Amino acid sequence: QEAYDVASIRADFPILTHTVYDKPLVYLDNAATTQKPLCVLDAMRNEYLNANANVHRGVHWLSQQATDLHEAARETVRKFINAKSTSEIVFTRGTTEGLNLVASTFSDEFMKTGDEVIVSTMEHHSNIVPWQLQARKKGIVLKVIPMTDDGKLCLDEYEKLFTDKTKIVSCTHVSNVLGTINPVKDIIRIAHEHGVPVMIDGAQSVPHFPVDVQDLDCDFLAFSGHKMYGPTGVGILYGKEEWLDRLPPYQGGGEMIEHVSFDKTTFEKPPLKFEAGTPDYIATHGLATAIDYVSSIGMAKIFAHEQNLTRYALQQLRTIDGIKIYGHGPVADATSAIDAATAGCGEAVISFNVGNIHHADLGTLLDRLGIAVRTGHHCAQPLMDRLGVLGTVRASFAMYNTKEEIDALVEGIRRVAKMF
Ligand code: PMP
Repeated sequence: QEAYDVASIRADFPILTHTVYDKPLVYLDNAATTQKPLCVLDAMRNEYLNANANVHRGVHWLSQQATDLHEAARETVRKFINAKSTSEIVFTRGTTEGLNLVASTFSDEFMKTGDEVIVSTMEHHSNIVPWQLQARKKGIVLKVIPMTDDGKLCLDEYEKLFTDKTKIVSCTHVSNVLGTINPVKDIIRIAHEHGVPVMIDGAQSVPHFPVDVQDLDCDFLAFSGHKMYGPTGVGILYGKEEWLDRLPPYQGGGEMIEHVSFDKTTFEKPPLKFEAGTPDYIATHGLATAIDYVSSIGMAKIFAHEQNLTRYALQQLRTIDGIKIYGHGPVADATSAIDAATAGCGEAVISFNVGNIHHADLGTLLDRLGIAVRTGHHCAQPLMDRLGVLGTVRASFAMYNTKEEIDALVEGIRRVAKMF
């Protein structure tokens, strides 16, 4: 029993009907970016055709149309992640910019030499390097939550990392390599017991299951539009109002000021304080349209569908001789992301190697069969070091993938493996 009619969803994504090398495209690189439904493309084209003008500063009708769409998008995002207020929703270029914004402004305001940030073994480079830049600038120290061999963060060890120098925790919700759903609610609770705020990298969680920032009680959350059927170039930084009020601006320019003179400049309140320059207001409308689209299906249903796919894929992949799948504990029957995290099962992302075949060779030969996967270190080299590999092949699923596509992947791997 499907959670929803996948065939009708696929009809909204014309790119999925493409053939490559005369084979039907099997797109399993959704953790890198997702395809876009027609409604998103139409909404953006429509805005360029009918409502294009710079936002916030025009007195004229067209500018008001564009501003209304842009601010309506902020409200759509607020509702989607259940933030208290639209002043907690900052438009960014993506997860990377959100993480850099917090690393930079938080350390400027609240950290001094020797102060510590806690990250985890399974971070994407975008949640490591921004902190390292601050480490270089002012000598802050990175501490790392260790991970078990089967890809789970060690919460006991995590608790021991706190000292009176710990100023912030920055941790991914879902690993983009292992698919592990981290128990972020516990991670946040423990940090708060130490009086420390938490930044969550939601790049791989927000697109896949309901994320409620008030329920998690996270202080910051960043995610990208392009990984959730929206356009490239737009992302969201959620921040609790009390934090955004206290952080200094990230970049200076138009839109973010209240009054400028050569002697003294005063800034807008959040979120505009963090939105210097003309925003990609076409993309924010596109993202809101994508959110309306997934909401009309229901994030819980999308999660159920992708859990089914993940479960099926693990069962099938495990029958391949010589395959090594990283992370992924028991295949549990989880109905919520919190249950899934507790049961130790991951979602929508499976990384593996087969025998001695180089991951890049396997990926390239799968491509010849029309199957798009990603290979390499997936911007998580410290995690590769922990796993003791140079890279993996990664298949990642979205709401439009099917069991038939997983069969094609498994069959493709068998064919390639025979060649070696
Ligand atoms: N964090 C994680 C967990 C990711 O998977 C990604 C994208 N691969 C990012 C951060 C960075 O996202 P973006 O490139 O859209 O800024």
